[in-house]
Amino acid sequence: MGLDNLSNSLKDAMKKLAGKTVIDRAAVDELVRDLQRALLSADVNVKLVMQLSQSIKSRALDEDLPKGMNVREHVLRIVYQELVNLVGKEAEFSLRPQKILMAGLQGSGKTTTTGKLCRYFQRKGLKVGAIGADNFRPGAYAQLETLCKKINVPCYGDPKEKDAVKITRDGLAALKDVEVVIVDTAGRHALEDDLIEEIMQINDLLKPDHRWLVIDAALGQAARDQAKRFHEAIGIDGVIVTKMDGTAKGGGAMSAVSETESGIVFIGNGETIEDLERFDANGFISRLLG
Ligand code: GDP
Repeated sequence: MGLDNLSNSLKDAMKKLAGKTVIDRAAVDELVRDLQRALLSADVNVKLVMQLSQSIKSRALDEDLPKGMNVREHVLRIVYQELVNLVGKEAEFSLRPQKILMAGLQGSGKTTTTGKLCRYFQRKGLKVGAIGADNFRPGAYAQLETLCKKINVPCYGDPKEKDAVKITRDGLAALKDVEVVIVDTAGRHALEDDLIEEIMQINDLLKPDHRWLVIDAALGQAARDQAKRFHEAIGIDGVIVTKMDGTAKGGGAMSAVSETESGIVFIGNGETIEDLERFDANGFISRLLG
C-alpha cells in the first residue's frame, strides 16, 4: 500500500496514547492533533478532518465507558470507528448480469481498470464483455482489446467511428449474450462540456446498473471537483481509486467520495490485470493501524 507514511503516523499517534498513564482531556487533544497532522499530510479534505476531530473529542469525553473496557481501549476504539466512518461505506454491487459505465479523466486508469473488472467478474463465473467507447485517446481501444484478449473476454470497438454513442449501441448488440457489460468511455484532459455531454448521452442509452468513477490516487484535492462534476452529470454510485500503490496522498481521492454520496467499490494497486482489490472500510483501516 502506498500509504505507509500515513500508516506509520497513525500508529505512532495511537502508541503515544496507549503509553500515557492518564487519559484526560489533554491526552485526547494531543491525540486528535497528531491524527489531524497525519491525515492532512495524506491530503484528506480539511473539512472532513475537522469533523472527525470533533467526533473523536466529544465521544471520547462524553460517552459512557462500555462495560469491561478501560478508557484507553475506549478511545482507541472510537478512533478506529471514526476513521472507518471517514473512508465511508463500501459501495455495493451484486454478482449478477449488469451493465457498468466507467467515467473518469484521461490517465486516471480507466481502460486498465475496465480490463481488471473484466477479470474480476470472469473469476466470479460471469460471462463478461467490454465496449471500448473511448475513441478520443488514440490507442485506447487497442489497449482494451489487448487486455481482453489476454483473458479471453470479448471486446467491441471501432476506432474509426467518431460517435461514441453509436459504438455503445453497436457494442450492446454485438455482446448481447454477455452477462456483464463494461463500457470504457473517453476521458480527455479536463472536464470539458462536450466530454460531460457525451457521457450523459451514453448513460441515457446504456441505462447502466452502475456508474463508477475512476480517480487517480495521486490527484489529491483536485479529485473533489471531478467527483462533483461527474456526479452531477450521471449520478456516480461508486468510486474506484487507482494507483494506491504509488502515492502517499491517497486521502484526497478517497475523501472525494463524499462528493458523490456513494462509496469506494475497488482500489487499484498495480499495473497488472489482477491488481484490483474489493474495498472494505474495516479491513482498510485495520491494515492502516495494523
Ligand atoms: P485511461 O486514460 O484512464 O484509460 O488510463 P490508462 O488505463 O491508460 O492508465 C494510465 C496509466 O496508469 C497506465 O500506465 C496504467 O498502467 C497505469 N495504472 C492504471 N491503474 C494503475 C494502478 O492501480 N497502479 C499503477 N501503479 N498504475 C496504474
